[in-house]
Amino acid sequence: MGRRKSVCCGCSALEVTLAFLFVIMTGVCVTLVAMMFNWKTDTTDTAVGPCCPESQDPPYLIGVGRADCTGPPAEIPLMGYANPQQTAAGIHTRLYSRAFIIDDRRRRVLFVTADVGMISQRLRLEVLQALQVKYGDLYRQDNVVLSGTHTHSGPAGYFQYTLFMITSKGYIKSSIEPLVNGIVKSIDRAHSNMKPGRIYRSTGELGDSSLNRSPHSYLNNPEDERHRYKQNTDKQVTVLKFTDLDGDGIGMLSWFAVHAVSMNYTNRMVSSDNMGYASYLMEQDKNPGELPGQGGFVAGFSSSNLGDVSPNTKGPHCVNTGLPCDYLNSSCPVGGTKLCKAFGPGEDMFDSTRIIGHNIYRKAKELYGSAVEEVTGFLHFAHQWVNMTDVTVQINSTHTATTCKPALGHSFAAGTTDGGGDLNFTQGAVEGDPFWDGIRDALVGKPSNQTQACHHPKPILFSTGEMNKPLPWHPEVVDVQIIILGSVAVVPVPGEMTTMSGRRLREAVRQELQSDGAFRDLEVVIAGLSNIYTHYITTYEEYQVQRYEGASTIYGPHTLSAYLQKYRGLARAIAQDRVSELPVGPQPPFFQNNLISLLAAAGVDGKPENSSFGDVLDQVLPVYRQGDVVSVTFVAGNPRHSGDMRDKTFVTVEIYDNRTNTWEVVYTDASWETRFHWLKGSNRQSNSTVEWHIPPAAPSGSYRIRHFGHYMLRRFPQPIINPYEGVSDVFEVAASFYYQ
Ligand code: ZN
Repeated sequence: MGRRKSVCCGCSALEVTLAFLFVIMTGVCVTLVAMMFNWKTDTTDTAVGPCCPESQDPPYLIGVGRADCTGPPAEIPLMGYANPQQTAAGIHTRLYSRAFIIDDRRRRVLFVTADVGMISQRLRLEVLQALQVKYGDLYRQDNVVLSGTHTHSGPAGYFQYTLFMITSKGYIKSSIEPLVNGIVKSIDRAHSNMKPGRIYRSTGELGDSSLNRSPHSYLNNPEDERHRYKQNTDKQVTVLKFTDLDGDGIGMLSWFAVHAVSMNYTNRMVSSDNMGYASYLMEQDKNPGELPGQGGFVAGFSSSNLGDVSPNTKGPHCVNTGLPCDYLNSSCPVGGTKLCKAFGPGEDMFDSTRIIGHNIYRKAKELYGSAVEEVTGFLHFAHQWVNMTDVTVQINSTHTATTCKPALGHSFAAGTTDGGGDLNFTQGAVEGDPFWDGIRDALVGKPSNQTQACHHPKPILFSTGEMNKPLPWHPEVVDVQIIILGSVAVVPVPGEMTTMSGRRLREAVRQELQSDGAFRDLEVVIAGLSNIYTHYITTYEEYQVQRYEGASTIYGPHTLSAYLQKYRGLARAIAQDRVSELPVGPQPPFFQNNLISLLAAAGVDGKPENSSFGDVLDQVLPVYRQGDVVSVTFVAGNPRHSGDMRDKTFVTVEIYDNRTNTWEVVYTDASWETRFHWLKGSNRQSNSTVEWHIPPAAPSGSYRIRHFGHYMLRRFPQPIINPYEGVSDVFEVAASFYYQ
């Protein structure tokens, strides 16, 4: 049985365990457009007071862009569940970066939502460096937000802190480059198509698509606070509709709080999960006739305060008995934590992804269709770098407390019911375990008394703030930022805020912004997994319970209080027109040396005797009907040899056009209906199996499936890599009525 390590999101602690305890545990973490229109964009932050005209006049300049950011779909760990066995082996759906640029002719903001587990500090710094080279000071740390959808099925390897590098098989150039280049390309596209337009906002609620996975922690929040809310997760979907001056839609940006973990730890294909599927559906809808990833309409579905929010709506059950798991610890009487898993709502993970993604899409589309409330007013933004390890917070009129050097608690290693640890850790641990503490002390060192006291009641598993080799294990400097689009405030958070943490933050920001009577009727949204990843942010009360989220709140019990203080400061500065007085804060490091690389080079490809790369090993059937699954297997090379495959495809499904006597591509590896599995065998041989799940609406006709790849013929004296392609026999999709 695989070593299912902990958990979601950076769950890496387990991986730490992986690295250090591996032996022990065997079996056991605008310039052009502005010029055209002769408009100037002030790139400094000379503040302009808020203003609220009835309609935005002159209109905003708006640009939207999308680009493929899919990395190598082979051998690289998928970023999320921190399971070393869960390496990429094909493509379910491609990953995209979606960029939205808004300019009020005084200032400009750029919001990117990308199909990645989270934005890492390294990824952000590399993107900002690339933007600096291309655009000078137009796009900077203060007016650019990068947010991740939190899919757990994208290639890892884009981190510079040791904990994450260990879980990612290091800092992987071939993995981070497509991400950086894809994100920048989406920005280039948005930048080059900016035009005057309008923004409308709309908010509604979506039920049946999310569940609190740590209700016990939530219940520890004050009763009077809980009574202000009907639910223990946020159900709101907020939509921004972007149109040109003719009223034609050009894009949509939305926020909803749910983990993108419908695809579970057993998945091996690169996938954008439920949030990506919502984007996919909306874009297919608004770009009729286009292949996935094509077409001008861009639909971003951004993450929010999803820290304790699961999409697995059937809830956690013991897989051996079918009974609900223990409430506090999420464990089973027989089998412990590892057998407590949450599933649903579908029959399998693909079905669950489809249902949750479709629900989010359907709600957003409805809100998009009914959005009539125009967003008006100036743009504002404020940003600071903060050293989160020594923020002093006022906890009452007489006492202060401080944040801590980063550390992860024991429950971190337990994982969550969305993907659990395999060791004997359980959630809700407030006492250490002598066995594991002993191993930790011997291998990575005992936490200092000061750090232990600071994190109380967290029993520390890894005192990452005291581990600096070969590079610091966790970041100290963190981005805090707010951007305001007239009547919408977007609050990017550097991690995963729980439901109640997000509510407190939204309220604090709203309060400060409205304190001087400005920004009335403000919509405040949280953009999750933004700019840098620091795991979870629970409330002080949730922290006391020390479930996974509390154990993963790395700067200690007062982490949220510190953030509330910092974000209040930003909001106040905006409200009082004093952003330029905010200290920039300490620059984050950009490590040049000691980045780890643990990924072995992709080797020479082998093939069966008397065969060629691209030959068919398992052929299609002659006839199918709608609803069937076509499958064909090819002799393949390692997809890593194909290099940067952005905007390309490993797979096409083609229909024969009798009028033109040509083959027309109707699906690619980006399509929901196709699955590209890459299977590594023995003797350096590998196969590609392509599945096409024929949709009910597929026209009858003659089809074929093609597969494209590269193989390495030899490595020395210099590598020779050749392209290959394979094609299936022609098969018919016959109308169902032939069979009735
Ligand atoms: Zn998460």
